[in-house]
Order: sequence, then C-alpha cells, then structure tokens
Amino acid sequence: MPIATTNPATGQLLKSYDAMSDEQVDAAIERADLAFHQLRRTTIAQRGRWLVAAADLLEAERDETARLMTTEMGKTYAAAKAEVTKCATACRFYVAHAPEMLADEPADAGAVSAKRAFVRYQPIGPVLAVMPWNFPLWQVLRFAAPALMAGNTGLLKHASNVPQTALYLEDLFRRAGFPEGAFSTLLVGSDAVEKILGDPRVRAATLTGSEGAGRSIARIAGRELKKTVLELGGSDPFVVMPSADVDRAAEVATTARCQNNGQSCIAAKRFIVHTDVFDAFAERFAANMAALRVGDPMDEGTDVGPLASSGGRDEIHAQVRDAVEHGATVLCGGELPAGEGWFYPPTVVTDLTPRMRMWAEEVFGPVAGLYRASSYDEAIEVANGTSFGLGANAWTTDPAEQERFATDLDAGNVFINGMTTSYPELPFGGVKNSGYGRELSAIGMREFCNTKTVWVGEGAASAGAGAHAE
Ligand code: NAP
Repeated sequence: MPIATTNPATGQLLKSYDAMSDEQVDAAIERADLAFHQLRRTTIAQRGRWLVAAADLLEAERDETARLMTTEMGKTYAAAKAEVTKCATACRFYVAHAPEMLADEPADAGAVSAKRAFVRYQPIGPVLAVMPWNFPLWQVLRFAAPALMAGNTGLLKHASNVPQTALYLEDLFRRAGFPEGAFSTLLVGSDAVEKILGDPRVRAATLTGSEGAGRSIARIAGRELKKTVLELGGSDPFVVMPSADVDRAAEVATTARCQNNGQSCIAAKRFIVHTDVFDAFAERFAANMAALRVGDPMDEGTDVGPLASSGGRDEIHAQVRDAVEHGATVLCGGELPAGEGWFYPPTVVTDLTPRMRMWAEEVFGPVAGLYRASSYDEAIEVANGTSFGLGANAWTTDPAEQERFATDLDAGNVFINGMTTSYPELPFGGVKNSGYGRELSAIGMREFCNTKTVWVGEGAASAGAGAHAE
C-alpha cells in the first residue's frame, strides 16, 4: 500500500512518501529505547506538564488538524473537530488521574507474612502502536496519553493513507516537550511490522485494526513472547424491544450507523427489532437514513462524507449486492453514485439470511442490516450470533430486561438506551474475534505496565518466616 495522502472526496493524490529505510527504523527504535530510560526517571508531575502542553497544542490547532484529517480520510470537518477536542480531553483526564492510577497499592501484609506488601505499576519500555485511519488522531491518542504518562515510549506505525496526521502526532509530542524519541512515527508499510516487533528493544504492541492484522501481530508477538492489546473489528447489534421509545431509537440508530461515514468499529451494524415494533422502527429508520445529506465533508451541512478508499467502497457495495442476489430487500440506498470521490448512500437492507455475507461479516460503511426477532431469546441469539464481540446496544425501558441484556450480550461494551461510544473514564475493548485487552481508564493504562509485587520482610531476624519461595 503506498504511503500517501489521497483525498477521498476527489480521488486526487496529494502527497506521497517513501517508506523509511531499515537504518532509519533502527535509529528510531534506538531513540525510543534511550528515551525510555530517560522518561521512566521523570516524575508523573513532569510527564503531566508535557501532556498538558500537548492538550493545549491540540486545542490551539484544532481547525487545521481537523482539516488535515478530513483531507486524508474523508470524515466530516465537524466530526474531525470533535475528535481533536476529545483527544485533548483524554490527555487532561490522564494527567489528572495518573497519580492515583499509578500509585502503589497496599496489600494485606499480615496475610503474606510481610512487614509491608504492595503492588507497584512501572513502565515496560518502547511499545509499537499499529493504528488505523478511521479515527486517525483519537486511536493514537488513546494509546499514547496513558502510555506516556506511565513512562513508556511509543513507536507509531500508522495506516498508510494518513501519513500527514501520523507526522503531526510525532511533532505534537516533541513540541509539547517530551524527550526526543519518546514518541516517533515510522513511515513504513505493514510488511515492516514483523521485524520491528521482533526487535528486543520493542517490548510490546498494540494494534487497532482488522481481524487479519490482529492475527498476524498476535502470531509474531506469540513467537517473540511480547504482550499485545488487540482492538479489532465488530458487527455490533442494536436491539430494539417493544417497551423502547421507537422514535428515539430510530434517531440514535441513524447516528450510530452513519457516524464517521459508517466507518467505526463500534458503529451499530445489525439492527435487531422485536416484531411488535419492527414496522414502525423500519419505516422511521429508513426515512432518517434516506434524509442524510451525503457530500463534501468540508461542508458544514454534510452528514456523510466519502468512504476512505475506493477499495472500501467496492467492498461494501459487493456485500449489498451479494445480499440482494440472495433475496434481501433494499429499503433505501444501495446504488453506487456517479461522479468523483468514494461516496456511498446510507443504505438499509432487510430480509437477511445466514447465506448472505452481511449476516456474519463486518460492513464498514453506511449500510445497516435490519433483522426481525419474535422474542428476547431470539434477539439475543441473533445479537450474539457472529464471531465478533465489540459493542452492543439494547433499547428497552423494562429494568429487568435491561439487567438481562447487560449480562447476556456477548460484548466488551454494552450500552442500554444509548449508542456505544468511548470515554477515557471507561475501559474499551472486545471479546471473541474483536480482540483482547482494554484501552482507556486505569485498566488501559496498566496494560503496558509491569504489575510488580513487592514484599518487604522484617529484616535478618525474621526473614523468610512463613514465606513460600517460588
Ligand atoms: P487494517 O487493514 O487492519 O489496518 C490497520 C493498521 O494495521 C494499519 O496501520 C495497517 O497498515 C496495519 N496492518 C494491516 N495489515 C497488517 C498486517 N498483516 N500486519 C501488520 N500490520 C498490518 O484495518 P483497516 O481496514 O484499515 O481498519 C478498519 C478495521 O479496524 C475494521 O475492522 C475496524 O472495525 C477496525 N477498528 C477497530 C477498532 C477497535 O477499537 N476495536 C477501532 C477502529 C477500527 P497499512 O495501512 O500500511 O496497511
């Protein structure tokens, strides 16, 4: 894949880059390793000052950074501006909470025959971050902010279609004051990842991306015995039960499916609606979807911009055509528009069966699958019936049913009467083929920490008393 910026709204190639040489990559890893030994000795307060400076820069440069993201991958300018602000908020969250998240945790000393026992969280070293283009700033920040606060250093291999955003991120942390090498961008293709992850100076990897990339990185990391966090794809269910506010559910469903031009891992993708409210929901949802304005992502009036690549558009159109050929019904959209740019209309497809690709595959664009369920049990069966388990939504005002959904939905995130989103305060991640490990919250920060047990005895007179050597 070329390392280049191509504007998805026009298909025009704007800027391309040569991949870094092996020597340049090696020098960046060396700088990351040296910076780690420096960073781990700084105080949390110092790292916090640098991260606050990064947040200040993000806020000051919001509009131009947002324009860059829109140009590189096609999200609407309004969404891009909100993404920059969210990144600054996450930086400030980790600055405020790192002291308590990284504080020593006392254990019951008496129970382990110690004078003192505690858990200490320490950084582990340079972490390779392989990141996707769909939230080109946020996906990186939600790794980088906690990692840098913990004292780790970062090596970013960003998606090949967002090189300018990738370079901006390196520059951002440098200007914020972090030591040289604390956060570096490697302009390389995915074929370079194996060698980088095999380097002994690189201690761990985090990937946000497709299932295929996840399997590849897990295989390499397994061989190298390195920790990984994998945030992979999803085909999130959005279940609507008879007690739900159907108008509100249909309105949120439209945003949940089409946010980020339909290219979000936690976008609701399969709409599973109880038969009692199916017709009412289907009518409103299809009307809302058809009313969305598709067009120039820089235009403030646009709801849905282009897909990030022509290949991505071809793929979702092939999934829709496959469903239609096997008997599905298109309620709106489903036709490739003429003209330049990789636009696709918001589309609703119903009468889906397990023979169709859409039943089991992730659809990464503004295309919704609509399913009918005659009972709670059937809704759960369809909702859990894919290999994914990232997010899940349920709409019901019945408290007992809310409890059941919270338990029965097989997903890393369950949102009831609202759409799935990420917050710095809450852990984020998936189960099954959606990956493992968590980002955000204290849990996300500690994924790349050495959870070190420290046991302190009385001294020479009573050393070892009651202890179990392991
Ligand atoms: P992708 O092809 O897997 O790309 C993501 C990153 O992985 C890019 O940097 C890519 O580099 C790299 N990559 C691809 N194949 C690789 C391999 N075999 N070995 C090492 N690195 C590899 O994913 P995408 O299609 O661009 O992104 C969409 C996917 O990401 C969807 O499945 C979506 O659901 C998922 N996603 C998940 C989350 C989450 O938090 N769970 C969030 C956002 C997106 P190149 O660009 O150079 O190919």
